[in-house]
Amino acid sequence: MAAYDVAVIGAGPAGSTAAYRLARAGARVLIADKATFPRDKPCGGGVTGRAARLLPFSIDPVVEDVVDRLDCSLRYRRRFSRRARAPLAFMTQRVRLDHFLLTKAGEAGAEVREGTTVDPLELDARIVIGADGCNGTSAKELGLGGGILHGVALEANVPHEARFAGTMVVDIAAIFGGYGWVFPKSDHLNVGVGGNESEGPKLRAELRRLCEEHGIDPDSATGLRGYRLPMRRAETKLARGTTAVIGDAAGLVDPFSGDGMYEAFLSAALVTDAALDVLAGRAQTLEPYEAAVIRRIAPLTNAGWGAKRAFERFPTAAYALARLPVTFHALEKLLRGDLAHPAQARGLEKGALRLIGAVARAAAA
Ligand SMILES: Cc1cc2nc3c(=O)[nH]c(=O)nc-3n(C[C@H](O)[C@H](O)[C@H](O)COP(=O)(O)OP(=O)(O)OC[C@H]3O[C@@H](n4cnc5c(N)ncnc54)[C@H](O)[C@@H]3O)c2cc1C
Repeated sequence: MAAYDVAVIGAGPAGSTAAYRLARAGARVLIADKATFPRDKPCGGGVTGRAARLLPFSIDPVVEDVVDRLDCSLRYRRRFSRRARAPLAFMTQRVRLDHFLLTKAGEAGAEVREGTTVDPLELDARIVIGADGCNGTSAKELGLGGGILHGVALEANVPHEARFAGTMVVDIAAIFGGYGWVFPKSDHLNVGVGGNESEGPKLRAELRRLCEEHGIDPDSATGLRGYRLPMRRAETKLARGTTAVIGDAAGLVDPFSGDGMYEAFLSAALVTDAALDVLAGRAQTLEPYEAAVIRRIAPLTNAGWGAKRAFERFPTAAYALARLPVTFHALEKLLRGDLAHPAQARGLEKGALRLIGAVARAAAA
């Protein structure tokens, strides 16, 4: 008999929540990470409402600000501000959030090994799940992944200013193929810019500009860090036999928003269902997990590609539609998880999203 039912490699949001769910369901789980926690990860730390509601427990102990206001601009012009009827996102610091999630996995019964690099092919486990992020090697070692495109982002922390509390600042097209952000935390602000991989050399200058445009001293920035954003394509293989990849290891970052925690939490839940079926003898492989990702995550990813193309090719038209109050109502519902993907919108909201879809199709053509 194998020593473990499931071995999870990597203890970010994807790995820890998968380990938590599996252990809670009674599986014998090992979760191993090369880092020792608490450890940080370059990230805005914004947990959208839809991501938070996927979790089987509250993240309140590590929430530092609750955002219900969006302050948006297009290349720092045509600014508009909208207040949502309920929280849009919960601001966390990854150094605290990830430690909290891994502690939850341990409390649920998973065996936690920190500071450990494991060989996925040598693990004594019936099921192996790669959750080692965008720079991990498990996907390759398991013969999974492939065909992943990358975006790039650069972030830093600056001193806190009360005027940003409760607000998510997003400057669309601050960088080609992406945006800049200012996210409030309890004692600092996180600032960043992210976009297409080709924009890498411009990130430093664009981050300075973002700060200056918002009256933030760029020289006050500390902890400057760059990182990649992995985006899967249709051919990316997510499961084979009793192995699978989840979260960033599977390239599940949203191509437009650059968010990946919703996808990390959802892929963890989907792989858990597939793994429990295998352990109970109801299925032979984890391949139904890949089909579930295509059903549950791909429609949102496809909408993300569409919005990205629309803003790259026709930024003024796409932005004019995005700033309509009705579009914000749809966005609000998407961010909170009241809509699983844009195609579920109804009435005027559906009309506005369809127009953005038409701009995206024109951009693709
Ligand atoms: C600058 C930036 C800003 C972002 N902002 C947001 C945001 O505000 N909101 C949002 O939702 N998403 C954001 N994202 C995306 C988000 O950070 C990722 O999608 C998310 O971290 C994915 O979680 P994960 O668990 O898949 O991978 P990770 O968080 O990368 O965790 C992977 C883990 O695997 C471990 N590991 C790596 N190699 C090995 C190995 N060989 N053996 C064992 N362990 C290993 C690592 O130490 C790490 O702990 C941002 C990304 C960037 C780059």
